[in-house]
Amino acid sequence: MREFDGLAVNSGKVLAPACLYSSNLHKAIDEYDITGGQIESELLRFDKALIDSSRELETISLRVADKVGNVESEIFMAQKHIMNDDSIVRQIREGIRGKKKNAEAVIFQVYREFEERFKAMDNVYLRERGADIREIRRRLLDNLKQEKRGFACEGQSHCQRGANRIIVAEEFTADMMAHMNFERVRGFATEHGGVSSHAAIIARALGIPAVSGLHGITQTVKCSDIVLVDGDSGRVYHMPSEETIKKVITVVDVQARAKCMIASPPGTEVLANASIFEDAHQARLLKADGIGLFRTEIMFIREDRLLTEDEQFERYKNIVGEMGNRPVTFRLLDVGGDKPLPFLRIQKESNPYLGWRGARFLLGNPDIFHIQVRALARVALLGKIKILFPMVVDERQQKELVDGVRGFVQAVPGAAENLQLGAMFEVPSACMQAQLIFKHVDFGSIGSNDLIQYLFAVDRNNEQVSADYNPEHPILWKLLADLVAASSEAGKPLSICGEMAGREGFAKRLLDIGIKSLSVSPRLIPQVRTEMMEYYDDGASVGKPEHRTEARA
Ligand code: PEP
Ligand code: MG
Repeated sequence: MREFDGLAVNSGKVLAPACLYSSNLHKAIDEYDITGGQIESELLRFDKALIDSSRELETISLRVADKVGNVESEIFMAQKHIMNDDSIVRQIREGIRGKKKNAEAVIFQVYREFEERFKAMDNVYLRERGADIREIRRRLLDNLKQEKRGFACEGQSHCQRGANRIIVAEEFTADMMAHMNFERVRGFATEHGGVSSHAAIIARALGIPAVSGLHGITQTVKCSDIVLVDGDSGRVYHMPSEETIKKVITVVDVQARAKCMIASPPGTEVLANASIFEDAHQARLLKADGIGLFRTEIMFIREDRLLTEDEQFERYKNIVGEMGNRPVTFRLLDVGGDKPLPFLRIQKESNPYLGWRGARFLLGNPDIFHIQVRALARVALLGKIKILFPMVVDERQQKELVDGVRGFVQAVPGAAENLQLGAMFEVPSACMQAQLIFKHVDFGSIGSNDLIQYLFAVDRNNEQVSADYNPEHPILWKLLADLVAASSEAGKPLSICGEMAGREGFAKRLLDIGIKSLSVSPRLIPQVRTEMMEYYDDGASVGKPEHRTEARA
């Protein structure tokens, strides 16, 4: 048995066989000399890799044309043309012949020089093409070395593509999503947190345990090895002993608890965070008081394209239908930062977390924004819904967002009565202007995941700085208490939908400062309700005194 310590990305514990996924980044390239007699066979290897890679790009291009659109599909045809460009092909062939080096080394060098030239260009569009050059190089090297991105045992009859398995990988990448059977994945264990944090988002969306920052795990674990992921402590066990399993996984029968937990204590609400229909289904089974956060962007990420108004309407309608008469809060597309929509090919930013994201993205893309609002206004005729604005920065922006919505809601007679608008408090400047923001909306929701990130200038996905990502910090609790005061002054409800609401012991502390509406991963609903019951049974005297004192100071 071997233990790995990492960063807890999503809570929960799971024991299952591993599925090893490889995203070959070709960080180390073999370089060796070849003899005169080997030149021809090396050139043949290169030619074969070129033909195989061109075929792959044609196939991808056709698939993308069918699923996304012709403009997007041209990206791949353009890559094919660059790859087959006479002067590049000549340089590589001459490099192999003249320098008597292996094809991998020559390809790596030629494409690196080419990439450097793109990087130095003034024109942003051309500079961006450096990413295409990297992709082409990676594809050629994959084919040359006959290594594939994908599951280690892909193509073999026993390969489950992640179903009922724990995915072990270097990093969670976008191409992984296309490969895996991710609705049935049981857990994630990755070496790196990942710049794009897709892992965290998907793991949370699916409610599955995940740990990152596990250095060396991909070298140790083999496909089908038994792995135990403890997403609460951030520890992962390779081939755990019976004793360890018993120690880590204590039997909690969620279903049995759910049966006796059919309602939240009076005056409180326990809502569900959801991203896919299955979450809503689970939320209904667990008798959630509604959906407090439906992350609509996950739908777009999964489908890898924009959805039309009708397509969105159908999907939202199903969620509302599943929840019966319980309210559903749809958050408008929260893209950018850790949730890029790759198919939009947004200009690359050096600091995406502070860039073109959330509310800024919506206001800068009125077509996308308005199509979504129109779909939601139609859904409001079917049941009570709420629209939540992501990453609001200040009052001016909040007003602009509300103005952008109003006309579309009024255009659907009867929609306004069933629809409320809310602001997400996840940027410190918005929290400090909460009274003004409340004037424009009907409710507020605290996005503590990002709020902690921006308050303490700490990347929520970077395992190296996780010590500073501290939901216990008194400064955070002071800010939360200020938000509670602003909401009661405005007479507008306030809830919390960040992960800290589901953290053990936090429901009591949140009740203690006056936050009575908590939205959590569906599987945490029974636990949160139990804590709430205990809070009132204990005479409401809980929480660490220092937090209460600070929060109320
Ligand atoms: C948050 O930031 O707390 C939140 C709920 O949104 P997300 O995790 O999707 O950024
Ligand atoms: Mg957020």
